[in-house]
Amino acid sequence: METIGARLAAVRARVAGAARAAGRDPGEVRLLLAVKAQPVAAVLEALAAGADLLGHNRAQELVATGPALAAPGVPAHEMHFIGHLQSNKVAQVLTWATCVQSVDSERLAARLDRAAARRAEEGGPGRLDVLVQVNTSGEETKSGAPPASAVDLAIAVADLPRLRLRGLMTIGAHTPDAGRVRASFDRLAELRSAVAAAGGPVGATELSMGMSGDLETAVAAGATIVRVGTAVFGHRAPAGQGTR
Ligand SMILES: *Cc1c(COP(=O)(O)O)cnc(C)c1O
Repeated sequence: METIGARLAAVRARVAGAARAAGRDPGEVRLLLAVKAQPVAAVLEALAAGADLLGHNRAQELVATGPALAAPGVPAHEMHFIGHLQSNKVAQVLTWATCVQSVDSERLAARLDRAAARRAEEGGPGRLDVLVQVNTSGEETKSGAPPASAVDLAIAVADLPRLRLRGLMTIGAHTPDAGRVRASFDRLAELRSAVAAAGGPVGATELSMGMSGDLETAVAAGATIVRVGTAVFGHRAPAGQGTR
């Protein structure tokens, strides 16, 4: 059985290879580990192996594992929230995450802005990094703002005083058709340019796209953050089966 450290190294090699193949500097692409449904022990193993950016897509898990991952001796790392965020979970998520990658409506952005203001009043960080999530594939099951309204949403988000727009996020088309997957990533890159052209902040440069199955395509299309779960942690063990 391969260790998490070995699989992490293999994924890093894939990312670096894809970057070089695209004529990019591998240092331009950060690897975020999607840690959904992983036991804390597995996450600690990944941190010990050098992971420094994690993402949770479920608020409940983020909150449940937050204290263990903030304990003394745990290697420093950043935690992003990458999933659908219900409004009643916003304050809790801000306790543990430094960036919310899944902003898909002005309503959610306004709630995050208010929660970030409260967090600042309580002595926390003054601003919250956010990415606007775009549904570039048009698949109905996917969250994210429609591409047609993504630029307006990004500009509105950037205008909120407590939010700092860092870029855009998407989940690639779920299809074996590599051309369609690539098209969804190209769409996100085009939207980033459109946000800049519409007067978006200069720091809004991130493109969070690509997962275990399509990270090479995403890196070729300009990804600056790839979000990987399965390729490092394996498939989620059924309840009661213990760890892999
Ligand atoms: C789980 C998840 C990933 C990672 O997907 P894998 O296919 O397991 O690599 C990336 N992004 C989001 C939003 C996720 O929920």
